[in-house]
Amino acid sequence: MDTVLEIKNLGMSYETTEGSVSAVDNVSFRIMNGEAMGLVGESGCGKTSLGMCIMKLLPENAKITNGEIIFDGEDIVPKTEDEMRMIRWKGVSMIFQAAMNALNPVYKVGDQIIEAIVAHENIIKEEAREKVRELYKLVGLSPERMENYPHEYSGGMRQRAIIAMALACDPKFIIADEPTTALDVIVQDEIIDEIKNIQKKLNMIMMYISHDISVIAETCDKIGVMYAGNFIEYADTFALFDNPLHPYTKALMSSFPSIEGPKKELKPVPGEPPNLLNPPRGCRFYPRCSYAEEICRNERPEFVESEKGHFLACHLVI
Ligand code: SF4
Repeated sequence: MDTVLEIKNLGMSYETTEGSVSAVDNVSFRIMNGEAMGLVGESGCGKTSLGMCIMKLLPENAKITNGEIIFDGEDIVPKTEDEMRMIRWKGVSMIFQAAMNALNPVYKVGDQIIEAIVAHENIIKEEAREKVRELYKLVGLSPERMENYPHEYSGGMRQRAIIAMALACDPKFIIADEPTTALDVIVQDEIIDEIKNIQKKLNMIMMYISHDISVIAETCDKIGVMYAGNFIEYADTFALFDNPLHPYTKALMSSFPSIEGPKKELKPVPGEPPNLLNPPRGCRFYPRCSYAEEICRNERPEFVESEKGHFLACHLVI
């Protein structure tokens, strides 16, 4: 399989009045053609920041400090904003988590998607309208709904419209950032199935961001676990669920109900993630890790391949 996205030693930080916050720290992974990769971890661990780095949609106080984002054979880190406008939507697109905020309340939803297509593709409005009709069908919405305003949609319908918008210019790569967080469990399930089917049908690559490891397990071929800005484990979904190696991954799994296995007592991960203004010197999970030893306090574990295709950063499991 061909590599479509390769992230090499990527670093990103926010400048704040209190100092520099390193939100993404030396992250490396790749996504092959047709694959869906899930990115999981607690809130504030750098998942959305990593997604925003790939889109190059960073706030003014944030910058990519090092590394490469090779998409379709080209490093996009040095690209200008004008060059990125050509890549976003057609190359890389994003399904945002807050569907209501991503839609303009005073325009009909269908017209907003038509506008996006006309702005990025060399086609006339009527062709774009026909394309949106097809996209509506693809995401399970009636094309008649194109004439409605966002407030006339339910939460699930808005999220489907946002998926249609993200697909509007036939991107090769979709980043889905907590796309079901605000929805009830039943609608959540339907949307997850829809995203999974569309990704396979259109043979796109996908990065699915969620704090919920069971959602990721249902949707993705591979899983990357992030903690305090670092990638700490990365493997095939089956391998990771069958044999999680990193203490943080194990703790995360114990805190979510199993999808298929027997009922078990859920245990929250003890403690809090570190303040990234002043992270621990050695392993960033050290203050919360029940396996920690002296070396963990002082030395940063490297991210290495411990078994074929299974990468992790832990001094005690290599
Ligand atoms: Fe725990 Fe040490 Fe491994 Fe970090 S390196 S996860 S502190 S055992």
